[in-house]
Amino acid sequence: MKSIKNVNFAGKKALVRVDFNVPIDKGQITDDTRIREALPTIEKLLSDGASVILMAHFGRPKKGGFEPELSLKPVVDYLSKMINKPVAFTQSLDFKDIKALADELKSGDVMMIENIRFYQGETKGDEQLAKKLSELGDCYVNDAFGAAHREHSSTATIARFFPNDKYFGLLMENEIVNLNRLMSSPNKPFTAIIGGSKISSKIDVIHNLLPLVDNLIIGGGMSYTFAKSRGNRIGNSICEDDKMQVALDLIEEAKNKGVNLYLPIDIMAGDAFSNDCNVKYCPEVDIPDGWEGMDAGEKTRELFREVILKSQTILWNGPVGVFEFETFAKGTDAIAKAVAEATDKGAFSAVGGGDSVSAINKSGFADKISYISTGGGAMLEFLEGKTLPGIKAIMD
Ligand code: ADP
Ligand code: MG
Repeated sequence: MKSIKNVNFAGKKALVRVDFNVPIDKGQITDDTRIREALPTIEKLLSDGASVILMAHFGRPKKGGFEPELSLKPVVDYLSKMINKPVAFTQSLDFKDIKALADELKSGDVMMIENIRFYQGETKGDEQLAKKLSELGDCYVNDAFGAAHREHSSTATIARFFPNDKYFGLLMENEIVNLNRLMSSPNKPFTAIIGGSKISSKIDVIHNLLPLVDNLIIGGGMSYTFAKSRGNRIGNSICEDDKMQVALDLIEEAKNKGVNLYLPIDIMAGDAFSNDCNVKYCPEVDIPDGWEGMDAGEKTRELFREVILKSQTILWNGPVGVFEFETFAKGTDAIAKAVAEATDKGAFSAVGGGDSVSAINKSGFADKISYISTGGGAMLEFLEGKTLPGIKAIMD
């Protein structure tokens, strides 16, 4: 692991790729998690006596070039308040202007360059752009786990210009250590809870996990594709008809590998996709027309809970109901509670995925979880067994 921990960066100009792609509503940052998570790395470098040049993307610029609504200016202002010092910034995309700012940096100074995706070539991993960026500093630190599955100029290509001076930031290091712990030597029994709306987005993760886990819990919207494939009535529940064979194959594969597969056994259904629809309890997976499965029933919650409480390693990705509606958040809350309890008893627990993280935060159990990943897509690709370009670029 090329960690920054045991290196002294005094006098260096550190180019640091961070993931500051935070939600912004009318110029206000509504969730600053990603900024807070990057602070330990920034503070370590500054306290060593380095200066820091931050690179980040924001949103998905389409035009190529500056777009005022996708400027990082609000993030710069926010960061400046958080670290209690000015952050040098220019909205110019001209490297002459940027280099001039970078050259003025002194030990302990921070600057940020404008949304890296304003630059042509960034998302293609362009080497010319990477080279220009590399000339701004004298070492490279990647702390953007959330963008580590992208082979872009600022996340991967740039590392080539620092063969002996490239490092994982502290956030990135923590993600890698924890994900490796899950995937290489998990304490048994190992239980994966996979939910969410679509089987298609999780199929590769499930395949890669099957040889590792003892128990696989499948819940949420995707469980209705399994249910239908086994001949159950699912009413108007969300279903991927073209993935029914995939579901049947997974059931078979789990059986062959000796993995205990748990699917919902009772269901809370609604007569519309809303919080205040009429609710029907289906004591079996048998949902009449006009109703759709929205959450796990009480027997299912109890079943899942028992499995979770017997586990030593737990991975959770994907809510088991439409948790955004309070009426249908009980299943997801029950999972959060059970994972927290198991963790209290000594299990190692990991939660990841954009919606899963917001669910665990909402449940109030977030501080009980061993590890919460900051990367949605990046974490899923890691769990799929893929090599992430942002990680590979530092290891090479
Ligand atoms: P993550 O972002 O954690 O990887 P996903 O994006 O795969 O999770 O899935 C989250 C979404 O799945 C949520 O928006 C949730 O409402 C939805 N979902 C869960 N259960 C159902 C269901 N029964 N019907 C429709 N959508 C569901
Ligand atoms: Mg999601």
